[in-house]
Amino acid sequence: MRIAIASDHGGFEMKAALVAAISGECEVQDLGPASGESCDYPDYAIPVAKAVASGAADFGVLVCRSGIGMSMTANRFQNVRATICTTVEQATVTRQHNDANVLCLGADNTAADKALAILRAFIATETDNNARHVRRRWKLERAQRLSDCSGLMRDDPEVFAAIEAQTRQEDAEINLIASENTSSRACREAAGSVLMNKYAEGYPGKRWYSGCLPVDAAEELARSRACQLFGAEHANVQPHCGSAANMAVYFATIKPGDTILSLALDQGGHLSHGSPVNFSGKIYNIVPYTVDRETEMLDYDALERQALEVKPKILLTGASAYPRKIDFKRIRETCDKAGCLMMVDMAHIAGLVAGGAHESPVPYADFVTTTTHKTLGGPRGGMVLCKEKYAKALDSAVFPGMQGGPLENIIAAKAVCFREWMQPAKKDYAQQVVKNCAVMCRTVQDRGYRIVSGGTDNHLFLVDVKKSKGITGKDAAAALDAAGIIVNKNTIPFDTESPFKTSGIRVGTASVTTRGMKEPEMVKIGTWIADVLDDIANVEVQARVKREAAELVAGFPVP
Ligand SMILES: *Cc1c(COP(=O)(O)O)cnc(C)c1O
Repeated sequence: MRIAIASDHGGFEMKAALVAAISGECEVQDLGPASGESCDYPDYAIPVAKAVASGAADFGVLVCRSGIGMSMTANRFQNVRATICTTVEQATVTRQHNDANVLCLGADNTAADKALAILRAFIATETDNNARHVRRRWKLERAQRLSDCSGLMRDDPEVFAAIEAQTRQEDAEINLIASENTSSRACREAAGSVLMNKYAEGYPGKRWYSGCLPVDAAEELARSRACQLFGAEHANVQPHCGSAANMAVYFATIKPGDTILSLALDQGGHLSHGSPVNFSGKIYNIVPYTVDRETEMLDYDALERQALEVKPKILLTGASAYPRKIDFKRIRETCDKAGCLMMVDMAHIAGLVAGGAHESPVPYADFVTTTTHKTLGGPRGGMVLCKEKYAKALDSAVFPGMQGGPLENIIAAKAVCFREWMQPAKKDYAQQVVKNCAVMCRTVQDRGYRIVSGGTDNHLFLVDVKKSKGITGKDAAAALDAAGIIVNKNTIPFDTESPFKTSGIRVGTASVTTRGMKEPEMVKIGTWIADVLDDIANVEVQARVKREAAELVAGFPVP
């Protein structure tokens, strides 16, 4: 048992007595003060709260005259539950019901021998895991999602209202947007941190401004963890988003007017792969490739023939709406034959790659770009991985080539995300995303809906709602939205509808899997999707599904 203990001057004597009494029974970290001179209680409460919050201590003990200032300070910290106890009964009950982990004592209202009995009871009592106590503790912890930004309630209630509405939406609805996920609290903490305050043009150790040591440490962690996680030689973690990551690679390697061979937007590609309305389509000569009309999958032989004919500078693969595995080895062979760079945009599947549920493009590609917020589940941002020989060109393309100061708070959150992916449980997560997707896809398919390419190998599937029910993707998405199920309209290969209406919807399972849902929940959700789409004008069905969906998600808390 590890106990961190501290006091202010008012509690100094009681602390000394407690330390002497329990040092034989527990591992005691006395965090001061060393004398009874006047001092400020937060200076001593904070180290104890940090020890408990970080897991360095099992329990904390804080003594001042009343226990009040100490408990207020300690309770500012996440995962700290500090309570003032004046009786043994209180100590026992707060351990059982609240899982309290910091005991605050008031030297003015508690006798020394009683304080020792209270402390002994506190550390000896087990937490009660009866369902009602677990539920209440869970609600207590969940209050944190609002309290994280509760200063805004007073300082900017309008913005707070938007955050609260998003929180409520996440709590009550089923998010199946394939490009989204649910970030961890740790990621959000880093993203909202004071690292936001620093200008850091340049790279770690080579900055234009002074005072960059703290952000250097964060960015170095992000770079090295990215390389370790993906087995890459070099990482640039500064791109503000996935589109910027792609821009960085183009700027580092080719000239305006050069040819890029890429998957067309309406076939599942991305805007930044050469859409005429995007910078990529305006600056470069884009030659699009398509999936096969019959199978709706990539035809690697056709792609190779096209590459040999077109002779692009870059062959770009990776997609925003392609439900199948991509054969990177085969594409490498094509690039070698065509004498072009191989670039893979793994924005959608990066989490599957990190967790081993999709083959990694890193060993094959010259450049791999990604977002960090899709299946990877980190902060909204981008990243480029490349071979060492391209490192310099890439880094100077990002800065000073196209960006100014990097977002070091977001970069720190990327580092947090990469570390999370090194935990073994993430392998299971990535597999579960794919399994969940297969089950939901089959459920919808079995209800008579045509699935693009006949199925899925990854985290998303596309439903051809036009062919199946004669409705547009736009109307289908709106009906599902009314039923508490969030998807997006999406073009399908060779779509005959406009991009504003579309013939399809795109459905992804990263977010629901993050919440802990498994196959049985996927069957339920797939069934609801079919129920709603079978009769999109039926508001009663939508209301019923919305109610049932809210009941379901209540059991799967957002982190
Ligand atoms: C989402 C996505 C991007 C870009 O993401 P932004 O961060 O929105 O710029 C790039 N490529 C692919 C394939 C994507 O799906």
